[in-house]
Amino acid sequence: MRRSIAVVIFTCLLFAAASSQPSRVRELSPGVWFWQGDRDAREPANCGWVSFRDYVLVIDANFPWGARKILPEIKKTTRKPIRFVFNTHYHGDHAYGGSLFVDEGAAIVCSQDCGVESRTKGQAGWDKDAGTGEFSLKPYRLAHPTIVFPEKMTFSDGEHQVDLVKVGPGHSKGDAVAYLPKEKILFTGDLCVNWKSGNNAADADADHPNWVRALTQMAGWDVRTVIVGHGAIGDVTTLRAQAAYLDDMWRQVQAGKRAGKSDEYLVKEINLAKHGNFAADPARNAGSIRAMFRKAGS
Ligand SMILES: [Zn+2]
Repeated sequence: MRRSIAVVIFTCLLFAAASSQPSRVRELSPGVWFWQGDRDAREPANCGWVSFRDYVLVIDANFPWGARKILPEIKKTTRKPIRFVFNTHYHGDHAYGGSLFVDEGAAIVCSQDCGVESRTKGQAGWDKDAGTGEFSLKPYRLAHPTIVFPEKMTFSDGEHQVDLVKVGPGHSKGDAVAYLPKEKILFTGDLCVNWKSGNNAADADADHPNWVRALTQMAGWDVRTVIVGHGAIGDVTTLRAQAAYLDDMWRQVQAGKRAGKSDEYLVKEINLAKHGNFAADPARNAGSIRAMFRKAGS
């Protein structure tokens, strides 16, 4: 008897825990949806979708195991077909789940440069996959973009408008963002993040000065809501803070290199504490400083 009461209590507790979990899906504006990435579940990239009159446009495909969770969430919000998935850049956490959307009838869209990166570095990363179990890419295939644009592509049906705008090179060569001028919502991909785990400024293709320029440019757009690549929803201040962090680090590295200091000296010397969450990961900061050092003119 006592055991069955314990089982009932345990089941109730489990149910309470499950039902008290905040939903990862949020409607930002009618027909515009946000799906919160989850670092612990190894599906860290944020995602979104826009329900046009006749079809759905998805923003960032996530990893395949993330896409498997996103698809049913999209279907809970609309019965319209998923026709397009836009990838902000080629990195696996944003793009490797693309084939799951292709199997639903979608075409993958990204900037021309991102398309090239997908077929080269993206493919190479996929082929090197060392994931195991549920986080292995083996059961999946890599689908590359089939629609690319050099600078800008607009989706519009009179109700919604989504401008895909290439602003890279920044975090990668082909970075592009999705801007919804009516709702004043901007999806930035990894050009901007809002968590404590950094944003890979050490990526081999990062162009730090242009990255800062891109963030500053976007902060001048009419934006109310910023959906960052990773972390919590932000606003224009998030764009400015990300730019300030990168700019500060870049300037200090450049000045230090000109003064003859070594990269390891600068890793110890440069204090980024005033940038709060953006600089909360010392290992990421160190990696970024070393990468900037390699790129900085002496
Ligand atoms: Zn990312």
